Amino acid sequence: DEYYGISRWGEGFFSPGKNGEIEVSLSYGEHKQKVSLYELAQKIVKGGLSFPVLVRFRDILRSRIAALNNAFARAIKQSGYRGVYRGVFPIKVNQQQQVLEDITEMGLPYHYGLEAGSKAELIIALSYVKDRESFIICNGYKDSEFIDLALYGRKLGYKVVIVVERLSEIDTIVERSKELDIEPLIGLRVKLSSSVPGKWSESAGDQSIFGLTAHQIVSAVEKLKAAGMLQHLKLLHYHFGSQVPDIRHIRGAVKEAVRYYVSLCREGAPMGIIDVGGGLAVDYDGSQTNFHSSRNYDLAEYATDIVEEVKELLDAEGLEHPTIISESGRFVIAHSSVLLFNVLDSSSLTVPPESLSIQEDASTELRDLVEIYNNITVKNVQEAFHDVIYYRDLMRSKFLMGDVNLRERGLAELYFWNSIEKIVRLAKQRKYIPEEIEDAEAALAHIYYGNFSVFQSLPDSWAIDQLFPVVPIHKLDQKPEIPAIIADTTCDSDGKIDKFIDIYDTKPYLLLHKLQDDEDYILGIFLVGAYQETLGDLHNLFGDPHIVSIGLDEDGEISFMGEVEGDTVEDILTYVEYIPKNILQKLRKKIEAALKRQEIDLVEKKQIAQAFEEGLRGYTYFE
Ligand code: PLP
Repeated sequence: DEYYGISRWGEGFFSPGKNGEIEVSLSYGEHKQKVSLYELAQKIVKGGLSFPVLVRFRDILRSRIAALNNAFARAIKQSGYRGVYRGVFPIKVNQQQQVLEDITEMGLPYHYGLEAGSKAELIIALSYVKDRESFIICNGYKDSEFIDLALYGRKLGYKVVIVVERLSEIDTIVERSKELDIEPLIGLRVKLSSSVPGKWSESAGDQSIFGLTAHQIVSAVEKLKAAGMLQHLKLLHYHFGSQVPDIRHIRGAVKEAVRYYVSLCREGAPMGIIDVGGGLAVDYDGSQTNFHSSRNYDLAEYATDIVEEVKELLDAEGLEHPTIISESGRFVIAHSSVLLFNVLDSSSLTVPPESLSIQEDASTELRDLVEIYNNITVKNVQEAFHDVIYYRDLMRSKFLMGDVNLRERGLAELYFWNSIEKIVRLAKQRKYIPEEIEDAEAALAHIYYGNFSVFQSLPDSWAIDQLFPVVPIHKLDQKPEIPAIIADTTCDSDGKIDKFIDIYDTKPYLLLHKLQDDEDYILGIFLVGAYQETLGDLHNLFGDPHIVSIGLDEDGEISFMGEVEGDTVEDILTYVEYIPKNILQKLRKKIEAALKRQEIDLVEKKQIAQAFEEGLRGYTYFE
């Protein structure tokens, strides 16, 4: 825990447990169990799947849905609010069928609905929402087909709200609802001037691409009035960014939005619903600060602030309290998925000191470097640091001139990095560590090669430097001593994780354990349930990992509830328009040609053909 902060970001779902293994807390009804993730991983492998595996914990998802809905129910009760809360899950945050099946089932007691941002998502929402009290919120740009689907949803008795993002959508709504003779439920998305600093801040502010400006809201009202349809305007929506770390920004946005809400009531719209969008942040680093990977508030404060802010402003205006909708995605689903992968290998710039030695006839520069290395002390670290850099550079330029051979250059680099390692180690015994030496520590990090693809399973880490907790799921009873960064199996220089959570900042390496020849080393990347699965891409043609859903059953026993096999090479090739049968044919022709040229015999022909066939059927990751 000291190194990885598991209890801080684990929110009670993950904690350091027995035998140095991470435990996950599962609960279903009265049943509660703490289970070792390492044991689960071993069972998964015994069951025939290989790493990487995405593990989904259904009980965590259920618990989050309950927590969100209960927090608003409590805030409503405590403040004497006279409206209700109806959450909706934004499908884009995790569109997987199993997830939607679970969310709509687990959300039933709370009339928990769905948010759809496209026709495809609306079709999912209409088919999966089970309860006619739940809302289906339609965001995103809409054509008439999208609007028809929403209107037919109304006809089937569902609370489908069409939220206007562009003024021209009003004309289509008016036209289509008249044509189909179906009364729409209409909402307006307002472009707030409040915005949040951070990685996800582009959804609000004057330059955001979403929503209507104050002037466009007035035009929308005019259009609806002219069409005799203002009585269908019921909802005001805003979404001003995901992962909002500071509660002051959340309060500020509600305040501004409620002003719009009041104004629309004054314009004669019946209203009755305010939709505060997403933004409820996840504490990825466990620091509970307003750093972008964290949040300086908790769920109870979030719900209370929204409810109280709406109540206070509407009471002052003498207006009824509306139904409050929120569209939290990240908060609801992030904790429920963990990506487990094995480490394939590691590399390092330094070597064990006993393997260092030089020939008698070594050049003077190399001898000088060895001399410095042997004489580094706590006192002279800074001087030694400058000297080794000088000699390293000298060796490099001599190599360029042809005055130093490859073997000497190779040895010089080993002595250089071993010296840096010694300098950093000894500098830590001093009260004050010179900054340049502190910075050098990151360069010493070993590379641990993980069997996964950052682009497929952790796209936000690559695209926007989002931080996720990365932790070995076993060996936590042993001190991790090797500073490491993690490289993935793609051959892209961006395919790595080299920023890790720290309490108040990020750190450039993670302390990990030494790899043992006879044992797998399994790491987990936690809190990956939101956005990562569907934003992932096929870089280097690595496909979806295997997915296993785990939860307690009605008897409180651990149950592996669903297994979705990851992509095979064949699957992936099909995604990018290849026809595996044709590929095999092309390969077979090449085998025949080699046979004809007598470069292979019949046995080899069979072996090679078999290898290609199996390759196509195999997992895209290292097996
Ligand atoms: N609603 C809308 C319109 C969004 O664009 C998003 C995502 O950015 C969300 C809800 C979900 O936000 P979050 O994951 O922060 O809860």
